[in-house]
Amino acid sequence: MRITDIRELSVPLQGNITNALVNFSEHTVSLVAVCTDQLRDGRPVTGLAFNSIGRFAQGGLMRERFFPRLRAASPESLLDATGRYFDPDVVLRTLMRNEKPGGHGDRAAAVGALELAFWDLNAKLAGEPAWRTIARHQGGATPTPGASVYAAGGYYYPSGSRHSLRDELRAYQDQGYTAFKIKIGGAPLAQDLARLEAALAVVDGDGSRLAVDANGRFDLPTALAYATALAPLHLRWFEEIGDPLDYALNRRLGEVYEGPIATGENLFSARDVDNLLRYGGMRPGRDVFQMDPGLSYGLGEYTRMLAAMELGGFTRQQAHPHGGHLINLHIVTGLGLGGCEAYPGVFQPFGGYAAQCRLDAGRVLPSDAPGFGLEEKQELAEPIRTLLGDHGGRR
Ligand code: MG
Repeated sequence: MRITDIRELSVPLQGNITNALVNFSEHTVSLVAVCTDQLRDGRPVTGLAFNSIGRFAQGGLMRERFFPRLRAASPESLLDATGRYFDPDVVLRTLMRNEKPGGHGDRAAAVGALELAFWDLNAKLAGEPAWRTIARHQGGATPTPGASVYAAGGYYYPSGSRHSLRDELRAYQDQGYTAFKIKIGGAPLAQDLARLEAALAVVDGDGSRLAVDANGRFDLPTALAYATALAPLHLRWFEEIGDPLDYALNRRLGEVYEGPIATGENLFSARDVDNLLRYGGMRPGRDVFQMDPGLSYGLGEYTRMLAAMELGGFTRQQAHPHGGHLINLHIVTGLGLGGCEAYPGVFQPFGGYAAQCRLDAGRVLPSDAPGFGLEEKQELAEPIRTLLGDHGGRR
């Protein structure tokens, strides 16, 4: 078995929405394909994946450094002991040859997309959904398919937009979502509290169904002011309060804010998570970890993060990866994590799930499509077609 081609397509995100710090209208995502000489139903088996949302595409890094390393590896060196599947650990080591430790920036997402494409590939070689492949690789009992999801939205739309926060959340509710997350920190506190009031009205005042995300915007005084104002609302969680690497701020907030605190989506290595565990004051049984495999070297590194959490007295139920898309749905299901995000209204063509994934009582179920099932997602059909071009890869 050998790789016949590796490709990347930089795909623009659709929409002009803003959180406390970032406008997504110029953002891109790397869609990658690893093509093989194996055939299923007369077509080459092709692994597809993308990094995740929020960190731009990394096509340059891939073409300059990571594709050549994979191409230079002997075909058999990338396979597991059976010779029937690729070994994602070996793939990761091959990609990271000659890379120094530390400095986990854009390369972590470039490598993450490629490593994940091999999980898609292995699942397609086995003819099963990726969550099964992931669960089997982990060992232990086969998990119940499906993941608890919440609809992440509530962005700041451009002024003059006719979007209303209440209408947006009601639309998610009509689709079957029972919990929601909205952005804060992009407006003064009083205005954010008015937004929260509108959002809480949709969930009948039940704060446990509404989370807020400050996207790392707050300094300590602002964070403390928001914590005081939010405390009586008993929210689901208060996400990324300060700079993602300001562990002291996170710890300080945990001392004064009783409700759950969520963070981790901007930590890209197991070593960074070690430091969060050591210095960030995260509380077992309460706080939420949001590291995203597609932004952090893929599934192998992500399982090392989970192992560090569990060693520190935290559970997998406290892991809710950032990135509401099909890849993380399979990972959350396969690893038995607490749940995942969904972007039903935003971040197309990557956000949200395929129509074949059933949403029922706040849980979403992956379909039986082989791999991550990206080919089933209607919005991804055109980018996948463009990426594969005349290759005739599995569709
Ligand atoms: Mg966030």
